Amino acid sequence: MKINIEQISEKPIEFSGEEKIENFPALLELNNSREPLFKGPLRFKVKLERESGRIRMSGEVSVVSAFFCSRCLSEFETKIFSVFTIYYTKEICGEINEETEIELDGHDLVSATYKGDEIDFGHELEEQVIMEIPVKPLCSESCKGLCPGCGEDMNHSVCFCTKAPVNMKFSALKDFKINR
Ligand SMILES: [Zn+2]
Ligand SMILES: [Zn+2]
Repeated sequence: MKINIEQISEKPIEFSGEEKIENFPALLELNNSREPLFKGPLRFKVKLERESGRIRMSGEVSVVSAFFCSRCLSEFETKIFSVFTIYYTKEICGEINEETEIELDGHDLVSATYKGDEIDFGHELEEQVIMEIPVKPLCSESCKGLCPGCGEDMNHSVCFCTKAPVNMKFSALKDFKINR
């Protein structure tokens, strides 16, 4: 996923396409560790342009993935999606230009470097995907989870723990006698 920087001018150029997960070492490693499971391919759309001495890459990346819900433990599919802007500066003699470390305008912008005449943006695409992996995946915001008493999935069934609720208020009233 390389592009020669001579192709990039102040007039933006766009690329889009899809790439197999196998072409992203970090994503493949995550896939091999079972969770999450990228169902691939990784779809991307990027726009590259020169902007005040840097190369600006903006775009979006998505990949269909499977997770285990952190509440009910069931497996579900969702799409990981990220919209990003990355500023590239040329790496000179292995040194990272100090300027690239500056936060550009208070937004969550990413800076990266390239060597020689080529930008390999594959690495940044996989970084973007990794950043969007939820820490506590949820099959749904309203997932009821498992019953702490019996372990039943509360989304699909009613367990015995909830079938016989003890109505404390009512049983207290039953024995209540009014003194006249
Ligand atoms: Zn769930
Ligand atoms: Zn229960």
